Amino acid sequence: MYLSTSVTLPPPPERLLQTPITYLKGVGPFKASLLQKELQIFTYNDLLLYFPFRYLDRTRIDQIVSLHAERDFVQLVVVLTAKKIRGDGGKKRLIVYAQDATGTIELVWFKGIAWVEKSIQLGGTYLVYGRLTSFLGQYQITHPDIEAVADKAQQEVPHILLEPVYPSTEKLRNVGLTGRALGKLTAQLIEQLSGYELAEFLPNTLLEKQKFLTRDQSLKNIHFPKSKELLDQALRRVKFEEFFVAHIQLQRIKMLRHQDKAGGAVFKVVGDVFMDFYKHHLPFPLTQAQKRVLKEIKADTEQGYQMNRLLQGDVGSGKTIVAFLSILIALGNGYQACLMAPTEILARQHFQTISNYAQGLPIRIALLVGALKKIERKKILLQLSQHEIDIVIGTHALIEDEVIFKKLGFVVIDEQHRFGVEQRAKLWQKAKPAPHVLVMTATPIPRTLAMTVYGDLDQSILDQLPPGRKPIKTVVRYETHRGNVMGFVRSQIDLGRQAYIVYPLIEESEKLRYEDLEQGIVQVQSYLPSDRYNLSKLHGRMSDAEKDINMKRFINGTSQVMVATTVIEVGVNVPNATVMVIESAEKFGLSQLHQLRGRVGRGAELSYCILLTSFRLSKEAKARLEVIRSTTDGFQIAQKDLDMRGPGEFEGTKQSGALPFKVASLVLDQDINQLAQQAVADLMVADPVLAQPENQPLKNYLVKLSPNNTIQLGKIS
Ligand code: ADP
Ligand code: MG
Repeated sequence: MYLSTSVTLPPPPERLLQTPITYLKGVGPFKASLLQKELQIFTYNDLLLYFPFRYLDRTRIDQIVSLHAERDFVQLVVVLTAKKIRGDGGKKRLIVYAQDATGTIELVWFKGIAWVEKSIQLGGTYLVYGRLTSFLGQYQITHPDIEAVADKAQQEVPHILLEPVYPSTEKLRNVGLTGRALGKLTAQLIEQLSGYELAEFLPNTLLEKQKFLTRDQSLKNIHFPKSKELLDQALRRVKFEEFFVAHIQLQRIKMLRHQDKAGGAVFKVVGDVFMDFYKHHLPFPLTQAQKRVLKEIKADTEQGYQMNRLLQGDVGSGKTIVAFLSILIALGNGYQACLMAPTEILARQHFQTISNYAQGLPIRIALLVGALKKIERKKILLQLSQHEIDIVIGTHALIEDEVIFKKLGFVVIDEQHRFGVEQRAKLWQKAKPAPHVLVMTATPIPRTLAMTVYGDLDQSILDQLPPGRKPIKTVVRYETHRGNVMGFVRSQIDLGRQAYIVYPLIEESEKLRYEDLEQGIVQVQSYLPSDRYNLSKLHGRMSDAEKDINMKRFINGTSQVMVATTVIEVGVNVPNATVMVIESAEKFGLSQLHQLRGRVGRGAELSYCILLTSFRLSKEAKARLEVIRSTTDGFQIAQKDLDMRGPGEFEGTKQSGALPFKVASLVLDQDINQLAQQAVADLMVADPVLAQPENQPLKNYLVKLSPNNTIQLGKIS
C-alpha cells in the first residue's frame, strides 16, 4: 500500500540528524564514545540507520502451562501470589511467585530488590515480559519487564506490538546497552523525529509503481512497527533501497569506464597471427558460445576504453581457447599479454596447452613461476621488459613489482576467485593505458548474484559445452561399500583408464574427524597393490617439487591413480581419467563437488563420479548430494548452492567487500534484488546521468554517499 501522508510534515533540519549521539538523552560522553567505537554510531542519523536484527513478538500472551524451553521470550498476564528473599550478600535475590489460570512461575530479581518490592503489589494483576529460563525444573523469568494491568481491555491490547532488538556487543552490554536498551535510545530518537518527515530520495514514479512505503514510513516502522504488515513493507522498501543504490553505483563505475575512451589499449585489427591460427591451426571448430564471447571481447577492445570482463563458464566449457584467441588479437596489435593462474600446476598446464596451440606461430611464450632458477628468472624478466616475450604465463609471481612489461595490453586471470581485487588492480598498473582484463571463472554464480558482486564488470557466459561430451554418471554410495567401489575403479584401470580418489583436506583439528589422506593411501593400496598399480599423491603439505613429480606421473600415465586432497580441484586436465571417487563427500560444499567432478568426463570415454558417504547424513548433506547426483549444470548447482547455503560462503564474494547490505540478503531476497536490478537498468536507459528533476534527490543522495568516490555524478553529461 502506498501511503501518502495526509498531513505534510516538514523535513527535519539537517543539523538535527547530524547531532552528535552524545546529546541523546541517556547517552552522554562515555556511552557515546563506546557507540562510536563499537558500532560506528556518531550521529543521530547513524542511529537512525542502525536497524534491529529481530523483534520480540509482544502481540501474544502465553499461558504458563504451554511454556517450553525453546520459547526464549514470553509474555504473561499473571497475579502475584507470594514473595521471598533468598541468600544474602552478592547472592541475595528476590523471588516472586506469579500465576495465571494454568500454572505458576517464578520471577527473580538480583538487583534493585528494594525498589521492586516497593513497586509491586501481591494480589495485583501484571503484564510480565522477559526471557524464559528453567532452574531445577522450575520456569523462571529473571529481571522481567513488569507493569500493572489496570483493566481487562489492556490485557488484550499490549501497547508495544513488536519490540526491536538491536545487535549489541560485549562492551556495550557491560554498560547496560543491551540489544533492547539500544531500542530505548532509538525510541527517543524517533520521538524527536516524529514532527518531521524524513526526506525521500527514490523517484516518485518508482515508489508508486512498486507501491513502496516512503522513506519516512519505512525507517520509522523498521524501528517501531505499527503492525507486522507495515514491518514487512518497511523491510521490503529498505532492502530494495540497498540493492538499488548498490546497483546504481556499480553500473556507474562501468559506465564511466566505458566513457573513458583513452582508458585502454585500442585493438584496431584482428591481426595476422590470429587469422593464421584461426584458419590453419584451430584444433576444433568453436562452439557458438565461444564465438559469441570472442565477439564480445573484440567489441570491447577496439573502442579505446579498458575492458574488465568476467567470463563465466562451467568446467570444460572451453575457456582456454577463448583466452588464447583473445591474446592473439592483442599480439596482432603489437601488445604483450599475460595469463595468471592460481597455482603452479595450473600455470604449467596452461603453458603446455598454449605452447601446443602456438606451434608454428611466430610467437614467444614464457613460463614464470616461483620455482625458477634465479638466472632463468632474470632472463625472462629482461626479455619481458624488452618485448622479446609475447605471452608470459605464471602464478602470483606475475604481479610482483619487478615484473615489468614493455607493452602489456591484455591480462587473463584464470579461476578468479583466488585473486583479490587488489591483486587485479596491481596488474592494471603494469601498463599505461591499463591492459584489458579478462577474468575467467569456472565457479559459475547465479546471474543476480554475479550482477551484484561483479556488477561493475562486463560479463560473458559460456553456456554451452563442446560437442561429443559423454555425460558423467554420478552415484552416491555408503563407505561400507568401498570394496565394491574400489573393485570398479580397478576394472576401469584395467581397461587403461585412470582414476582420482579425493579426500577432504588434512586438518589439524581432530574434531573434524576427516579421513586422513595417509591412512587412505594405505587403504587404496590394499585394493590396488603396488606391484601392479602406480599411485600418485598430492596434498598441501608436500613440497612443490614433490607435487610436480606426482602430477607429471599422473598426466603422462605412469601412475593410474591420483590420491589427493582438494588441491586438484581447480582446472587439472587429464582426459584419460574416467573415475572420480570422493571420500566423505558429505563434507564438501556443492561447488567443490562440482569442480571435483569436472576433473573427469574430459575424454571420449564414459566417466563416473562416486560419492562415498557415512551412514548418518544431515538433512543438508543429503540435499547437497542429491543436487550433485541429479544435475551436472554448473549454473543450476550454483543457484541451489546460493539457495541452500548463503552468499557469505560463496567463493569470490567474500573478499569483494562490495556488499554493504544491512538488511538485504542475497540469498533470501533474490526477488527484490532482481527488481532493483531491473529498476536500475530502466533508469540507466531513461536518465543515465540523473538529469531529470525527479531524480535530483537520488543524485544528491548518491553524491553525499560517496563524495570522494569515482562516482562524480556531476562530471558526466
Ligand atoms: P575450461 O573452460 O574448464 O577451462 P578447457 O579450456 O580446459 O575448459 O577445455 C576443456 C577441453 O575441451 C579441452 O580439452 C579443450 O581442448 C576442449 N575444447 C574446448 N573447446 C572445444 C570445442 N569447441 N570443441 C571441442 N573441444 C573443445
Ligand atoms: Mg580452465
